[in-house]
Amino acid sequence: MKTSISTVTIAGDLSEKLAAIAAAGFDGIEIFEQDFIAFDGSPADVGKMVRDHGLTIDLFQPLRDFEGLPEDLRRRAFDRIERKFDLMQELDCDLLLVSSTNHPKALGGIDRMSSDFHELGERAASRNLRIGYEARAWGKHVNDYRDAWEVVRRADHRCVGLILDSFHTLARGSDLNPIRSIPGDRIFHVQLADAPKIEMNLEYLSRHFRTMPGEGDLPLVDFMSAVATTGYAGPLSLEILNDQFRAGSPRVIAVDGKRSLLFLMDQVRRTASDVTTELTPPPMPPRVPVEGVEFIEFTASDKDIAGLETTLATLGFNAIAKHKLKDVTLWRQGDINLVINADKDGFAHSAYIMHGLSVCDIGLMVENAGAAVDRARVLGASLFSQKRGEAELDIPAVRGVSGSVLHFLDKVSDLAEVWDSEFQALTNNTQNHETGLTRIDHIAQVTNFEEMQTWTLFYDAIFDVEKSPMVDVADPSGLVHSRAIQSRDGNFRLTLNGAETHRTLAGRFVADSFGSSVQHLAFATDDLLNTAKKLTSNGFEALKVPNNYYSDLVTRFDLEPEFLAALKAANAFYDEDETGAYLQLYSRPHSDGFFFEIVERRGAFNCYGTSNAPYRTAAQKRSSRAPSVPRR
Ligand code: MG
Ligand code: MG
Repeated sequence: MKTSISTVTIAGDLSEKLAAIAAAGFDGIEIFEQDFIAFDGSPADVGKMVRDHGLTIDLFQPLRDFEGLPEDLRRRAFDRIERKFDLMQELDCDLLLVSSTNHPKALGGIDRMSSDFHELGERAASRNLRIGYEARAWGKHVNDYRDAWEVVRRADHRCVGLILDSFHTLARGSDLNPIRSIPGDRIFHVQLADAPKIEMNLEYLSRHFRTMPGEGDLPLVDFMSAVATTGYAGPLSLEILNDQFRAGSPRVIAVDGKRSLLFLMDQVRRTASDVTTELTPPPMPPRVPVEGVEFIEFTASDKDIAGLETTLATLGFNAIAKHKLKDVTLWRQGDINLVINADKDGFAHSAYIMHGLSVCDIGLMVENAGAAVDRARVLGASLFSQKRGEAELDIPAVRGVSGSVLHFLDKVSDLAEVWDSEFQALTNNTQNHETGLTRIDHIAQVTNFEEMQTWTLFYDAIFDVEKSPMVDVADPSGLVHSRAIQSRDGNFRLTLNGAETHRTLAGRFVADSFGSSVQHLAFATDDLLNTAKKLTSNGFEALKVPNNYYSDLVTRFDLEPEFLAALKAANAFYDEDETGAYLQLYSRPHSDGFFFEIVERRGAFNCYGTSNAPYRTAAQKRSSRAPSVPRR
């Protein structure tokens, strides 16, 4: 599988772009003419710089408004192309992309256009160059790949072939089946881009909102499954025009791009039977099923550990074991394992220096930990390891959101026994004020909005999860974009929240914790109202919900007065739909905005109470203006 990417996809100047593209492991680039013109150096210099990065130049683009012109303009178009040919030869690039014309004077006519391409093929052949013709979705005479192919077929020249672009094909909803009857050696190049499903002028959508494959809503797997049947053996190239990418980090965008191509072709390999070796990605295990969250690890110091311990105790957790070698304590309730790491050494300590008291590590129970780390590695995740003591297990791990760590445990190896092998039970522990918390319902991670696509792709590519559509959560000071990622059985749930402004609660958390990622943890209970009573007797302070909320609630749902009174007494939020109901209550936020949530899901309720979020964030903001809960 040969991968390529257009320089227009990545931010930075040409040398920054090339460094990022090479580091992400691409084989080649498409050079976008603007990037070349803006560069202060000869075409030969550019060609050398590209080759010095170990990359090839697979395509030069774009050439527009060539075919079907009246005679006087036609001559000039050919002259213009000869100069591009000079340039391509100096660059050492043999393929030119010609996009279907939008020239106001273009006459169209399939025979006229084909004979233009035949002549262009002759000229290209004399220089050992090739021409690829692409149908733009808004082309004046040719806007469908089937028409572009007909022009190429009639041009009947070995140096003239077709360029397939997934955006131009899928955004128009073209039938994909005819692709299967195009001979693979007549397809000179394949460009890939996804896009969100929004009603918009196609040209505007294409120029600003294209995304990496898998980040949008277009059926890229179907598209590539059709291409794979043709015998096409050329590069798979990303051509993404996206305003956010052009303002983003070159390295991050390049890594995302490579990951998206590997993920796409892995899906194609698993669904289509006849994928040739040229289009096959490196071997990797299938997407990783997550059975649940095995542990959450906090990093803390002597300064703030007591505050966290008090909070956990009021939530009904018990300290049950101590690590044999480190200053690490295990707290447990139900199936929830919380680890407090106050060791002065290792990753947790450096995470503390960076973010203060925070979640630094998440342990996921998967089917096979070795397979999980293998898949993550092939998809470009950074592996994580640190020095370990003799008695410590080698639990595979990768870096996750904002430099945090994701550990993989499984039941097929000895990894699940970590609590028995590495920890010593605390015997003097007699207190038991459990509150009915059973498991971790969801983990809420916050990033800057620009990073949301990156982390959605990370989880989606590596794990066997479903992603819900993005929703906007209203905070009194701005919008937070939120998207749930969860396993089909709901045993693993994560919400990714992208903050656009630092004035929102989520945005302030990102700023105040210097990019720590987990803003809240939600624990499940089977009976929230009963849990609330136990919490109160433990001294837990719930986030105060205003009376107005309950006055409004009775207008939205048909609730028994006693039930409403119980919700109010518990400071609980409520939501329901045709599948079931959702009860939520919150802790008061700690000084940097971290908080705990407790939820009860009734029936098959599968959402996260977005409709309550404006009232929750307003209450949290009010609460954080009150004397704050000591945390640091
Ligand atoms: Mg294109
Ligand atoms: Mg939540």
